[in-house]
Amino acid sequence: MPVSIAIIGAGPAGLTFARLLQVSPINSQLTVTVFEHDSSPKSRLLQGGTLDLHTDTGLAALKKCGLWEEAIKHLRYDGEEMTIADKNDTHIFHMKSDGPKFKSKGSGGELDYERPEMDREVLKDMLLGSVDAEWVKWGKTLQSIDETTGVLIFRDGTTAGPFDLVVGADGAWSKVRHVLTDLRPRYSGICGFEGRVPNPNDYPDLSKAVGRGSYFSCSDGKFLGGQRMGDESIKVSAWVKREGSEGKSWTADTMTAYGDNEERLKAKILEDFQDWTPRQRRFLMAATNWRPWTLYELPIGEFWDHKKGYTLLGDAASLMTPFAGEGVNKAMKDCLELAEQLEKALQAEGDFDEAARQYEENMFPRAKKTQMATMRNKTGAFSKEGPVSVAVGAVDDIAEELGKDLSKGILSWIPFKTMLWFYIVSRQWVGAWRRTVSEMIWRE
Ligand SMILES: Cc1cc2nc3c(=O)[nH]c(=O)nc-3n(C[C@H](O)[C@H](O)[C@H](O)COP(=O)(O)OP(=O)(O)OC[C@H]3O[C@@H](n4cnc5c(N)ncnc54)[C@H](O)[C@@H]3O)c2cc1C
Repeated sequence: MPVSIAIIGAGPAGLTFARLLQVSPINSQLTVTVFEHDSSPKSRLLQGGTLDLHTDTGLAALKKCGLWEEAIKHLRYDGEEMTIADKNDTHIFHMKSDGPKFKSKGSGGELDYERPEMDREVLKDMLLGSVDAEWVKWGKTLQSIDETTGVLIFRDGTTAGPFDLVVGADGAWSKVRHVLTDLRPRYSGICGFEGRVPNPNDYPDLSKAVGRGSYFSCSDGKFLGGQRMGDESIKVSAWVKREGSEGKSWTADTMTAYGDNEERLKAKILEDFQDWTPRQRRFLMAATNWRPWTLYELPIGEFWDHKKGYTLLGDAASLMTPFAGEGVNKAMKDCLELAEQLEKALQAEGDFDEAARQYEENMFPRAKKTQMATMRNKTGAFSKEGPVSVAVGAVDDIAEELGKDLSKGILSWIPFKTMLWFYIVSRQWVGAWRRTVSEMIWRE
């Protein structure tokens, strides 16, 4: 009897996992069904922004999926260009579009550090086009699972199963998670809006700031960014720290009050960025098609005890805010590891449920590490100091990625963080002073 697998959700995680099973040598021992909430592949019009894919996670998964030749047609290596600034538009950091292609010693040996961009929509289309169309059932929103029988119950009243393994790849509000744990996402304290500048040629100053990649600025618990998309448009993000229940409902309340009039909505968003430079504010004025976001996260390092027949991938397992750009990469790495464990078990005629348990055991510490790095970036970016906190907080991560231990040997003698702190603070001080002087001159 083939092993029956139900995958809930056809997002990046569900589709990557389905594709990995399809190209796996154990394919003939499996029946795979993907149940997706969306009514069709094109029913979700705005699928989001651009994702930077990392060497040993997102990119490695695409290679294992047999999609590398297709992927390199779409991966934008020049999208690695990045500028980090503060509210005075003082550039703290600029990475050129050819990016750092250095070799480093990661835990897995030699590692090329590359982070090319791909639009989320392109990634999804590519994965979807590679998965057997018969496997994907559209318009199937999982409502609950009968834990006694293992039968899946859908919102349209239909049922399916039971299955040997139910894999929850159904994102933040996973219904499969309910079977495993009482953990639920909580408000991250950050909310905001995303819009698009569809005609960047009309805004050469914004185009220059973004370059081929990204422009991120943060100060005083606020974040304003622009990112080049595959079609040349610029995605604009405006995030603010607003804690408590008022913060949680802020974007929805703002949309209700101003959503029918884009100019009033923009004026409302701009209120939070009054003391930012005219160019930064122009990002907000030029953007259109605004979408509200309230960001949620799961508690760091809290997971579940293994339960026979169920597991989770991606955001369903470890929802994070996007401030380390790790979500999709972590999701695709989950898929790689679960597929690998199942493959090993079935090839050795072993226990495939033990394979799912083993995947979880390995994934939990990896997820915790990613959650911690994300939290560090979030806390840094939304602190009063903004870029200083982000940069100083990233020193340990960069050292680890380079395979260096800053607490050992000669490196422990060099006060990297203090030096960096002084460097950035002095640059910010000069930048603030320069802005004040230039505004005085222009006013006269
Ligand atoms: C504003 C924003 C910006 C981001 N930027 C980045 C970034 O730059 N880099 C990065 O790596 N990550 C980023 N992320 C995170 C990234 O989008 C997620 O980590 C990634 O999409 C996770 O993939 P997933 O497949 O696990 O979940 P999802 O993408 O959420 O997919 C879940 C799928 O399941 C379906 N589904 C949901 N519920 C059900 C149900 N009950 N029944 C059936 N189907 C269901 C959904 O329709 C969807 O297709 C960002 C997230 C946000 C919100």
